[in-house]
Amino acid sequence: MTLAGKSAIITGSNSGIGLGIARELAKAGADVVLNSFTDREEDHALAASIAEEFGVGARYIKADMSKGAECRALIETAGGCDILVNNAGIQHVAPIDEFPVEKWDAIIAINMNSAFHTMAAALPGMRARGWGRIVNIASAHGLTASPFKAAYIAAKHGVVGMSKTVALETAQEPITCNAICPGYVLTPLVEAQIPDTMREYNMSREEVVKNVMLTRQPSKEFATVEQLGGTTVFLCSDAAAQITGTTISVDGGWTAL
Ligand code: NAD
Repeated sequence: MTLAGKSAIITGSNSGIGLGIARELAKAGADVVLNSFTDREEDHALAASIAEEFGVGARYIKADMSKGAECRALIETAGGCDILVNNAGIQHVAPIDEFPVEKWDAIIAINMNSAFHTMAAALPGMRARGWGRIVNIASAHGLTASPFKAAYIAAKHGVVGMSKTVALETAQEPITCNAICPGYVLTPLVEAQIPDTMREYNMSREEVVKNVMLTRQPSKEFATVEQLGGTTVFLCSDAAAQITGTTISVDGGWTAL
């Protein structure tokens, strides 16, 4: 599988799943644009290290995905892209009658509205070049619900629905649009919660993972960022040219329950 000559923009990619996807796309030969809302030396160094490791073009562009104009500017500054991965996301947990309005607005903006803006900005360039792949990182919570996550679940269901619409609007073009729905993924953020939870419940690492974190993930294993990157690369392959408007769950059986 080679993506040499293709350019990819991955939103929210200076850590976690986005970074894992960027690395797998670069490994497959794509030039990559990393993004987040910060503009630190280490953000640019991360892009440089990917360029060196995989021998591809890689750069970092700061853009705040909570702001529509910055979402669109990211695509413009990058000069468009062949592959767009909407991955930036945040979470907040609270019952709906106590859910802070500013958290609701931020989650809807970053997790859902940003995909509207980046897709709208990227599609004309994909059409002009005659090829495009859009991969939206939703969640098992784009297909199911849990209490206390109203904004996240609304946004992720929205992303799944929006992906179907864009797939229909591009169905007769060499462009596809799909959503990946991960279950629990072992990212640095999740890893960092394990020691505290071990202390809180007086449990071993294995018990915390199986009995606390992965209660709804039948495999009792985390998905990995490499697996999500590999799924993204597959969706960019010729084998996936007729896969559009659908979801791929990478959730260890969560949504089969
Ligand atoms: P993470 O916190 O490691 O990564 C989130 C990324 O988004 C970071 O790079 C962060 O800098 C960026 N980001 C946050 N706010 C931003 C903003 N305003 N503008 C630009 N970038 C911004 O988390 P993650 O676990 O890697 O999550 C990545 C995506 O995967 C999210 O959409 C999340 O909802 C989804 N997801 C994660 C899991 C999981 O278990 N980790 C499961 C299902 C879905």
